[in-house]
Amino acid sequence: MKKLLILLSVLAVSSSCIQAKDYVKTQIKEMKHAQKYATTKNVLQNTTQTYTPSVISLVNVKDPHIMRFGDYEKIPKAKYDAKIKKDEVKYEEYAVQLGKKHSKYYTTQADAEDFYKVYRVAEKIIRANKLDYMNWRICLKKSVDNVNASSDGSNLVVLTTAIFDTFNNNDDALAMVIGHEMGHALLGHYKRSNQLYVKMQREHALAQTGNSFAALAYAGMKKKFIIDAKNMEYAADTEGAKLVLKAGYSLNSGSDVLSFLSQYDLDSDMRNTHPNSAKRLENLKENSKLFPKEWKEAGEYNIYNSEVLPVKLSSDRKSIVISVPQNKLQPNKYYAPETMNELYARLGYMYYKNGQFEKSLEYFGELFKIDSNNASAYLYASYAGEYLYKNTGNAKYLNLAKDYAKKAYSLDSTNKYMKEQVDNL
Ligand SMILES: [Zn+2]
Repeated sequence: MKKLLILLSVLAVSSSCIQAKDYVKTQIKEMKHAQKYATTKNVLQNTTQTYTPSVISLVNVKDPHIMRFGDYEKIPKAKYDAKIKKDEVKYEEYAVQLGKKHSKYYTTQADAEDFYKVYRVAEKIIRANKLDYMNWRICLKKSVDNVNASSDGSNLVVLTTAIFDTFNNNDDALAMVIGHEMGHALLGHYKRSNQLYVKMQREHALAQTGNSFAALAYAGMKKKFIIDAKNMEYAADTEGAKLVLKAGYSLNSGSDVLSFLSQYDLDSDMRNTHPNSAKRLENLKENSKLFPKEWKEAGEYNIYNSEVLPVKLSSDRKSIVISVPQNKLQPNKYYAPETMNELYARLGYMYYKNGQFEKSLEYFGELFKIDSNNASAYLYASYAGEYLYKNTGNAKYLNLAKDYAKKAYSLDSTNKYMKEQVDNL
């Protein structure tokens, strides 16, 4: 979320012209620039990069809902609401505690209310995604002019008060910022870029001694470093969006962060480590189209089955610590991102749901190369083949559909949908 600070050095030129300056003409010229650069209008409004919520299926395809997206059960609404109500009582206790402790340090700290707000958003993300195996720290760093956030690769997320205040009436956007930074940390981005950076510096030092091989290697690594950095931003946006979707936040209003940041965008070549916001929005749009709505249910299941996490001010009083009961702390545990099996199965299924049957078959094909035991995936691949056959009349799709249906049936002969599809074809 870094923005570039542009320092404009204004040179005062004393004009020795005899002719008087035409201030109206200057104003006309300036207004022409304003048409292009004004930040008060939505800079993305004339592009295709507006975000549309996408967890709804675009086409009506048959779906017996037997694809699994994690270990969870759907919690009935009444039960879930009752649990949330119970949790609210606990939250009230922590709100009071946070406020009391805060008063002693009033002059140097962000307001207790602000700490409480980030606590609620972060805590929900942590519980919905089962990240409650370590303590998380959230810092509100005083800054008037730096709309920014960062994380350090461990369990610390830093929001400047500038970014917090900018989005303080939009929990979805705050969730998106926190989710993005957690995403960087959980996906090991700091380790990855540090490793390359250390290697790069070594080659740079060698190159300085006149070693031309090292100079070449350094140039190559530098290029890779920048490409990697940009790809990691896309990945953190996508992972962050998963985290916040599971926590029940809206990706639609959450993406306001990127729309807002787009006013700082320069030509993408001028920004080294971050892609421009229009591209980031496009990435978010493409990838979240492939998020199953079941993820929200999985998040509710995790919240339902966990307890409110205590919060306190950190020892240095500059951040909050969302702490995990000692018996739940697992210092050796690492975040488990989606496995390749899960990823391919999801892509195959979601492309199917979106009516992109060829893409669906492409990713199911990738899945079957590494996992030939997913009966549900074979069934949906068979459906995709069937629709493609209907749309194109090409017999190869019908044969594929038949093969996949047989495979599904052989893996799970007790499932009525497998039998139905074999008979149907
Ligand atoms: Zn980032």
